[in-house]
Amino acid sequence: MPHKPVAAVEPYPHPQRARGAGRYAPSPSGDLHFGNLRTAVIAWLCARATGRRFVMRVEDLDQQRSSLESARRQLEDLRALGVTWEEPVVYQHERFAAYQRALEELQTRGMVYECYCSRKDIREASRAPHAIPGQYPGTCRNLSDEQRAAERERLARDGRVPALRLRAEVDKWTVRDQLAGEFTGDVDDMILRRGGQDAGWAYNLAVVIDDAFQGVDQVVRGDDLLASAPRQAYLAHLLGLSPVEYVHVPLVLGADGKRLAKRDGAVTLRQLIGDAASPADVLEEIAASLGVGGARSMAELVAGFDVARLPREPVVFRGVKPGTAS
Ligand code: GLU
Repeated sequence: MPHKPVAAVEPYPHPQRARGAGRYAPSPSGDLHFGNLRTAVIAWLCARATGRRFVMRVEDLDQQRSSLESARRQLEDLRALGVTWEEPVVYQHERFAAYQRALEELQTRGMVYECYCSRKDIREASRAPHAIPGQYPGTCRNLSDEQRAAERERLARDGRVPALRLRAEVDKWTVRDQLAGEFTGDVDDMILRRGGQDAGWAYNLAVVIDDAFQGVDQVVRGDDLLASAPRQAYLAHLLGLSPVEYVHVPLVLGADGKRLAKRDGAVTLRQLIGDAASPADVLEEIAASLGVGGARSMAELVAGFDVARLPREPVVFRGVKPGTAS
């Protein structure tokens, strides 16, 4: 999608951080499904239950897959369910200057290096006997200036630019998660800025800078991102930002036991409403999955919600029954 030019440089920790905030941060690449909506509702409830503000962020870093129209529909659906947030909504495509500042800070400290590997190079290197699956093996970490110049030239001939990676000083980091407890996970020389032909900011950097900018100190999201939390927490630590509290909630599964997706049929709010359910019916189904049977509004959900009683098991989506009242 055509993105607006970069906004003026802004400081990244929020200047007037009165009290902490929770957030929801959807990627605008299609309508939110029942699982996404449930996570958003849980995030809102966790913030409310702990006296936090609630903010929204549209994660449209991936310009090929994101659209403003999709973001508009997602926000409309969230509003229809009764999720509320403080304006303004932050759009990542307006935040590039802040990512650049953070990158420069790390560069000044010698913590960034260029990486010339293609995806294929990394795949092959990570098949080596001592490689850790999914981890960058450090191929470009210690190249000489001559080697770097040659690699840079090789990429330039194909019209590509190098990626930029963090020179990590640890290989593990521990975060606190309300559901998982102390969680220690791998940290590698993560990408800060992608290279190749689709050069752009990396999610791990953007999420850390934006959470700090929006005053977020509670991150509630799907547990498919638990493994990324140590990387993000380490990056926040390097940038002098306060650690956040995590709540990684189990994903909603389809009837086949795989994570809920479009193939499971009517899964988005609009589809469910098309099938005669109302937003209140959808909320009731979400409430039931949280042990707050009978709640049909956010106010009723808040009254019965307890962070400590959040289910630790994945929930299987079995559709939404249209109610008689809305
Ligand atoms: N934008 C990500 C998603 O929609 C969520 C990232 C996050 O919550 O940190 O999956």
